[in-house]
Amino acid sequence: MIENYKKYLEFLNDKLTTFFHKQKPYIQCKEGCAKCCQNAEFPFSQIEVIYLMNGVSKLDDETKNIVADNVKKIKEAKRNFKGEGKFLYDCPFLINNKCCVYEHRGIICRTFGLLYIGENGRTQVPFCCFQGLNYATVLADDKSTISAEKYKALGIEQEPVAFNIRYGFLTGSDFEKKFNFAFGEKKPLIDWFVETE
Ligand code: SF4
Ligand code: SF4
Repeated sequence: MIENYKKYLEFLNDKLTTFFHKQKPYIQCKEGCAKCCQNAEFPFSQIEVIYLMNGVSKLDDETKNIVADNVKKIKEAKRNFKGEGKFLYDCPFLINNKCCVYEHRGIICRTFGLLYIGENGRTQVPFCCFQGLNYATVLADDKSTISAEKYKALGIEQEPVAFNIRYGFLTGSDFEKKFNFAFGEKKPLIDWFVETE
């Protein structure tokens, strides 16, 4: 089944590479920028976790220990979390602002940073837009969407385009059927780790 998931990932990567290329004038992503790996929930399905753990098995012992320590701290923070809403955390695989399992990262990780079509069918900006990063030059003054006026004023040939890349869509049954595998259960990445003490 993992081989079929890898075929799906190849298909997805090709699509996303094209999307990022089309949006190049609005994209600020570069090595060392890791805001998208922080302060979030990171939904992962079972097949993604299996593939991720394949990547973990290739890490050296020192890196594995850092990840284990990160997981322990996040688990503890979650246990003590009294806030309302979702528990958000920095990804345990983020070490020195770099993903230590990059080739094996999840689906959500691959979509960070693009304009997307939200559940309500409207264009949504990636959150790092509000931090002056992707699409910040064309963010509308009310900060709810993209400004066509700003885009036109910049004179950029490529139009900002929202893609259908929501996690729920990309992990839907159509792709399971097309590539003959199952995503399995989905939950926040940190919930896949069992506490050992
Ligand atoms: S998606 Fe945003 S936060 Fe993530 S690397 Fe790109 S610019 Fe940085
Ligand atoms: S797995 Fe890697 S890319 Fe995905 S959130 Fe964690 S550090 Fe970021």
